[in-house]
Amino acid sequence: MIYNFSPGPAVLPSRVLEEAAVQLVDFWGSDMSILEMSHRSKAYEEVHQDALDMWRRLYAVPMEFEVIFVQGGASTQFAMVPLNLLGEGDSADYICTGSWSQKAIKEVGVLGKKCRIAGSSEEREFSYIPTPEQLDLDERARYVHITTNNTIYGTQYGTLPDTGSVRLVADISSDMLSQPLDWDRLGLIYGGAQKNAGVAGLTVVCLHRDLLKCRSTGVPTMLQYETHASTNSLYNTPPVFAVYMLNLVLHWIEAQGGLSAMAAHNRHKAGLVYQVLDQYAEFYCGHAELQARSSMNITFRLANRDLEARFCADAEGAGLVGLKGHRAVGGIRASTYNAMPVEGCQALVDFMQTFVRTKG
Ligand SMILES: *Cc1c(COP(=O)(O)O)cnc(C)c1O
Repeated sequence: MIYNFSPGPAVLPSRVLEEAAVQLVDFWGSDMSILEMSHRSKAYEEVHQDALDMWRRLYAVPMEFEVIFVQGGASTQFAMVPLNLLGEGDSADYICTGSWSQKAIKEVGVLGKKCRIAGSSEEREFSYIPTPEQLDLDERARYVHITTNNTIYGTQYGTLPDTGSVRLVADISSDMLSQPLDWDRLGLIYGGAQKNAGVAGLTVVCLHRDLLKCRSTGVPTMLQYETHASTNSLYNTPPVFAVYMLNLVLHWIEAQGGLSAMAAHNRHKAGLVYQVLDQYAEFYCGHAELQARSSMNITFRLANRDLEARFCADAEGAGLVGLKGHRAVGGIRASTYNAMPVEGCQALVDFMQTFVRTKG
């Protein structure tokens, strides 16, 4: 038995993989694979529409929002967001809570657009999320950009910040579909599917219709939200297999009880691991401050750094893989996405306790 704690591409529900394996060679009795079908075929169109509809239903997406499927990963959204939302003279506020926020900010500059850093947790190694009092928001900003879950540092917003009349743009790549969303504060969300929603190649964007019209000139057709919104995300060939996988994952989440159930399950699973960090605080040092602990990526160091390589190697021997931390933080990172079963977290907890007893 292997438990995969990789940050992404990441663990998928075994039932999803089993169903995909069967249908990969024979899609609903067609004797054809979904990979071989035209994206204009009836069979694919049903999958495509069902994925869009299921996404809307599970997230309770308000009617004023469009749901679109694009490619290029969340990294392409770092550019598409300012390209579409910032016109001549416009400025945006960015809250910097880690490497992905930094990349998003960098891209605004690459495009020659304007943004301000309205808050940052960099001075304490991105170990916390700035509180509303720590933010310096511009009420004329076109949007405030946040990263809801910081995959590398292991921090996550507890609630979305109140930014008054300025709407939030949120990179939700690594906590996508892990909990319900507060749409009142949001203007746009985006994320790659490969962490919590399926496989690489698909990026989901939801945006308020007010933000659809591109405010820059000379933007390629493929990089305009309107292109995809007006064609039901079928302007060109979509990543058919990734959409199909997303659809299976969405049905799996529905069968688990939806996003509220998912959120409770995720908190419980992560809580088991955080409890060990707290119990053996002289041995394990959590990176994230208490308030900011992520339920998706749990980051920690060993007080004795020399033991970290041993920890990963022994864990792998015990069937716990993908635990090596990102080089920016070092140490250990356990990613406990939706599809990580509670048994996986329990196995990690048991391993961590045994490791303290034998090495402590
Ligand atoms: C992984 C990740 C990205 C990058 O996603 P790609 O789809 O590889 O471009 C961006 N933001 C966050 C928060 C991530 O976790």
